[in-house]
Amino acid sequence: MVTPVKKNDRKTVYIEDLTHDGNGVAKIDGYPLFIRGALPQETVEVHVLKTLKNYGFAKVVEILESSPDRVKAPCIYFGPCGGCQLQHLSYEGQLKWKENMVRNVMKRIGKIDVPVLPVKGMKDPWNYRNKSQIPFSITETGPVAGFYKMKSHEIVDMERCLIQVSEADSMMANLKKELTDIGLQPYNEATHQGMLRHVVVRKGRVTGEVMIVLITKSRKFPQKEQAIEVIQRLVPNVTSIVQNVNSEKTNVIFGNETITLWGKDSIEDTIGGVRFEISARSFYQVNPVQTEVLYKQALDYAQLTGDETVIDAYCGIGTISLFLAQNAKSVMGVEIVEQAIEDAKRNAELNGFTNTYFEAGPAEEVIPRWYKEGKEADVLVVDPPRKGCDEALLNTIIEQRPKRVVYVSCNPATLARDLRILEDGGYKTMEVQPVDMFPQTTHVECVALMSRVEK
Ligand code: SAH
Repeated sequence: MVTPVKKNDRKTVYIEDLTHDGNGVAKIDGYPLFIRGALPQETVEVHVLKTLKNYGFAKVVEILESSPDRVKAPCIYFGPCGGCQLQHLSYEGQLKWKENMVRNVMKRIGKIDVPVLPVKGMKDPWNYRNKSQIPFSITETGPVAGFYKMKSHEIVDMERCLIQVSEADSMMANLKKELTDIGLQPYNEATHQGMLRHVVVRKGRVTGEVMIVLITKSRKFPQKEQAIEVIQRLVPNVTSIVQNVNSEKTNVIFGNETITLWGKDSIEDTIGGVRFEISARSFYQVNPVQTEVLYKQALDYAQLTGDETVIDAYCGIGTISLFLAQNAKSVMGVEIVEQAIEDAKRNAELNGFTNTYFEAGPAEEVIPRWYKEGKEADVLVVDPPRKGCDEALLNTIIEQRPKRVVYVSCNPATLARDLRILEDGGYKTMEVQPVDMFPQTTHVECVALMSRVEK
């Protein structure tokens, strides 16, 4: 195997690009080297760490010419922690990079020439996360809590995270110190011993309500009462303490059984004047400030006059559905998680909507059936998980030809792929608006508007 560089070589390289996981990319005779911590437009001396057949990895020895957008990362855990990838890039630089990345993906994967608008960013891109899932474990030095290193299950022991709310900091920094006192052992993945696996913190931005979820290996644990007291002391504004039981040997965070230990079963939050009840396991966007921007964009693209019937596919707890219901004749939401549909129905009631209908099931099965039953839609909104829409759903859209499709996506690659399929089926992508839901990370959310091409 001949590669242009080999392990332990030193090279001076120019960084051309940034990968989706935040590594700088340099090319040596066309051979890509991925370099952690390097930014586009920089000239860097690197030390080659590893070479594979088609690409290699290197680390920065010295930055010879720095990017005009480089800043000092404010967080002391930046680098080891896998949570953020872009703290060394100015926020303006992050937004520019995201815009270009979406534009390139649309062209390269979707073969779509569509206006991609500048990313809608945040005024203050910190402390935005309203939900943190904090793994706990035990090492030789005692209990640890923080976030995982990138692509690993090794915890970076942390006291603070600059993108989460202060209540989550409080649990992260202090709970581990208290655990030994009350005799509650953190869980050890390797040995399957111990009790406390994760602590999940959720906060309603507008209401200030806080839920703390303890994910434990067994249902019974003798320190329950003390744990409640400790949490109340560490987070005085807590309104709900919940236990979730996960006894499996698995990477999945939540188990099936959820028990309220103290306070309410759920917390409430408000987005754009619509109220939502959120229970421990339901999906709720993690950046409430930008969620409002995102949903307003989706509503804008839906161009509702009040006469339309709308389908909201992958509706979660009905957030987008209820936003749309304010301006539509009726909205039908479908979602695979039953508990989320229960929440959606309750949320519709809570807000006094009478023009919504929710059903649990796979969108790719429920929507074709709705059409067969004569339930048609003028506008269809989809907001699938990272893997994108099921092909059966895309085919149904192409057959049924709603006037407009509004596609909300957290993964530009699958968005581009699906837009291509819909374009081939008689739609035109009018515009893509990226929204920065995840500052300091490489993730970006997009809303795309597609219109039916009249034949
Ligand atoms: N629109 C909601 C949720 C978007 S997240 C919001 O903005 O809050 C994507 C949702 O799709 C999740 O709630 C997930 O449970 C759901 N989902 C995943 N696969 C699905 C499928 N095949 N059919 C319907 N819903 C699905």
